[in-house]
Amino acid sequence: MLDLALPPRCNGRGAVVEADGRYCFACWGKLRLMGDPCCARCGLPFSYERGEASECGACLADMPTFDQLRAAVAYGEVSSGIALMLKYG
Ligand SMILES: [Zn+2]
Ligand SMILES: [Zn+2]
Repeated sequence: MLDLALPPRCNGRGAVVEADGRYCFACWGKLRLMGDPCCARCGLPFSYERGEASECGACLADMPTFDQLRAAVAYGEVSSGIALMLKYG
Protein backbone atom coordinates (compact mmCIF):
# COMPACT_ATOMS: atom_id res chain seq x y z
CA MET A 1 0.00 0.00 0.00
CA LEU A 2 2.83 2.36 0.90
CA ASP A 3 4.56 1.64 -2.42
CA LEU A 4 1.38 2.65 -4.20
CA ALA A 5 1.22 6.00 -2.43
CA LEU A 6 4.97 6.60 -2.26
CA PRO A 7 6.61 4.36 -4.86
CA PRO A 8 10.36 3.67 -4.58
CA ARG A 9 12.31 6.20 -6.60
CA CYS A 10 15.66 6.13 -8.35
CA ASN A 11 18.29 7.99 -6.36
CA GLY A 12 19.56 9.58 -9.54
CA ARG A 13 16.61 11.11 -11.34
CA GLY A 14 13.62 10.27 -9.20
CA ALA A 15 12.03 7.85 -11.68
CA VAL A 16 9.85 5.11 -10.20
CA VAL A 17 11.81 1.86 -9.79
CA GLU A 18 11.04 -1.66 -8.51
CA ALA A 19 12.54 -1.27 -5.03
CA ASP A 20 14.38 1.18 -2.78
CA GLY A 21 18.06 1.54 -3.57
CA ARG A 22 17.70 0.68 -7.25
CA TYR A 23 18.51 2.88 -10.19
CA CYS A 24 16.55 3.50 -13.35
CA PHE A 25 17.91 2.35 -16.70
CA ALA A 26 19.06 5.86 -17.66
CA CYS A 27 21.08 6.37 -14.49
CA TRP A 28 22.50 2.83 -14.46
CA GLY A 29 23.76 3.40 -18.00
CA LYS A 30 25.63 6.51 -16.88
CA LEU A 31 27.52 4.70 -14.11
CA ARG A 32 30.98 3.70 -15.29
CA LEU A 33 31.87 0.61 -13.28
CA MET A 34 35.55 0.27 -12.46
CA GLY A 35 37.47 -2.94 -12.88
CA ASP A 36 40.32 -4.72 -14.65
CA PRO A 37 42.34 -3.89 -16.58
CA CYS A 38 43.44 -0.96 -14.46
CA CYS A 39 46.44 0.67 -12.81
CA ALA A 40 47.68 -1.57 -10.01
CA ARG A 41 48.08 1.44 -7.73
CA CYS A 42 45.31 4.00 -8.36
CA GLY A 43 42.77 1.85 -10.25
CA LEU A 44 42.61 4.10 -13.34
CA PRO A 45 41.00 1.97 -16.06
CA PHE A 46 43.21 0.92 -18.98
CA SER A 47 41.71 0.43 -22.42
CA TYR A 48 43.67 -2.81 -22.82
CA GLU A 49 45.45 -5.36 -20.62
CA ARG A 50 48.97 -4.16 -19.76
CA GLY A 51 49.98 -7.03 -17.56
CA GLU A 52 49.88 -7.60 -13.84
CA ALA A 53 51.15 -4.78 -11.59
CA SER A 54 51.20 -2.20 -14.40
CA GLU A 55 50.86 1.37 -13.23
CA CYS A 56 49.52 4.39 -15.12
CA GLY A 57 51.67 7.28 -16.27
CA ALA A 58 50.40 9.61 -13.56
CA CYS A 59 51.42 7.16 -10.81
CA LEU A 60 54.82 6.55 -12.40
CA ALA A 61 55.46 10.29 -12.79
CA ASP A 62 54.40 11.23 -9.26
CA MET A 63 54.16 8.12 -7.07
CA PRO A 64 51.17 8.34 -4.70
CA THR A 65 51.75 7.75 -1.01
CA PHE A 66 49.17 4.92 -0.91
CA ASP A 67 49.80 1.33 -2.02
CA GLN A 68 46.44 0.68 -3.65
CA LEU A 69 43.16 2.50 -4.22
CA ARG A 70 39.92 1.17 -5.72
CA ALA A 71 36.53 2.71 -6.40
CA ALA A 72 33.33 0.98 -7.45
CA VAL A 73 32.41 3.59 -10.06
CA ALA A 74 34.13 6.49 -11.80
CA TYR A 75 33.17 10.01 -10.77
CA GLY A 76 30.40 11.35 -12.97
CA GLU A 77 26.93 12.87 -13.06
CA VAL A 78 25.14 10.03 -11.24
CA SER A 79 28.00 8.91 -8.98
CA SER A 80 28.61 12.48 -7.78
CA GLY A 81 24.95 12.58 -6.70
CA ILE A 82 25.46 9.37 -4.73
CA ALA A 83 28.49 10.87 -2.99
CA LEU A 84 26.54 14.02 -2.10
CA MET A 85 23.62 12.00 -0.72
CA LEU A 86 26.03 10.00 1.45
CA LYS A 87 27.77 13.16 2.60
CA TYR A 88 24.66 15.16 3.46
CA GLY A 89 22.40 12.35 4.58
ZN1 LIG B 1 17.59 7.24 -12.42
ZN1 LIG C 1 47.67 4.96 -11.42
